[in-house]
Amino acid sequence: RSLTAAEAEGDERAVEAALRPRTLDEVVGQVRVRDQLGLVLEAARRRGRAPDHVLLSGPPGLGKTTLAMIIATEMSTPLRLTSGPAITHAGDLAAILSGMNEGDVLFVDEIHRMSRPAEEMLYMAMEDFRVDVVIGKGPGATAIPLEIPPFTLVGATTRAGLLPGPLRDRFGFTAHLEYYEPHELDLIVHRSAALLGVDVVDDGTAEIASRSRGTPRIANRLLRRVRDYAQVRADGVVTLAVAHAALEMYEVDQLGLDRLDRAVLDALCRRFGGGPVGISTLAVAVGEERETVEEVAEPFLVRNGFLARTPRGRVATPAAWEHLGLTVPPAPAP
Ligand code: ADP
Repeated sequence: RSLTAAEAEGDERAVEAALRPRTLDEVVGQVRVRDQLGLVLEAARRRGRAPDHVLLSGPPGLGKTTLAMIIATEMSTPLRLTSGPAITHAGDLAAILSGMNEGDVLFVDEIHRMSRPAEEMLYMAMEDFRVDVVIGKGPGATAIPLEIPPFTLVGATTRAGLLPGPLRDRFGFTAHLEYYEPHELDLIVHRSAALLGVDVVDDGTAEIASRSRGTPRIANRLLRRVRDYAQVRADGVVTLAVAHAALEMYEVDQLGLDRLDRAVLDALCRRFGGGPVGISTLAVAVGEERETVEEVAEPFLVRNGFLARTPRGRVATPAAWEHLGLTVPPAPAP
């Protein structure tokens, strides 16, 4: 389907898919990951073998799915997509694995959320290209070995630390995706604007880039919201003034903090006196799931020095108080 059609239908996923880079060369930023992955793939191609299993970790929207798709494209093989939460039984995984052909790439998003029995089956499949399918229950159960053609597993996780060691160890290549720099996001916004046919000027895209939380998915989303504003309230061109006014309206602040980020800081400072407070309590206070606070909001707040994770709980830094326009409380006496 065309990008225009996807946009007309408001199909967020289809628009996102259309804006995805298709080859490693089109990927903006993540230079080290790109170089290392390029080498892994080239070596595999020369040997005529499926590349080693790849683990991609990092916050949402930084390009894990995009890279998985690129791995399949660069190897000229089909990509099969699934996710940890979709694999509730080992049997679900056995069904997927038994349908694979030699060299296929299997992408498992949110791999840290797979069930334990499925995880154990996956270890064996990754290492020996074999699984034991258990038929029946109790003492009469029998394990039937099933050969699987060599394949490449690409796992994605927002938190590599949550993966059990044995699973992590079976990946031959692990890449951690970092938040993007504003100039990289600027390139992404320019590229997307060209694909979407949006008229932009440089300081307009720079404004969007600097407020995108270091995240390409957010940069693309903000571009489209700013474009809406430009078309309805201005002459269609994304200028600095238009970007500024639009982002103000969508409550994205100068540093890119969105409503959830600010709600977390606000609860932390105003309700819990700056902490320390447990993550679950903090999540309840902002009315969000613990995972969302922990995997979406927190990494960006930590990286920007607004929040610290301590053994006793989450703590607001002086920068957090200042950002909210509050007086920084005096440090407790030693
Ligand atoms: P994740 O799987 O990590 O949540 P995605 O791969 O779905 O992230 O990327 C989200 C969006 O961001 C995609 O639409 C893609 O176009 C864009 N994107 C991600 N990384 C890059 C990049 N390095 N260069 C250009 N666009 C990117």
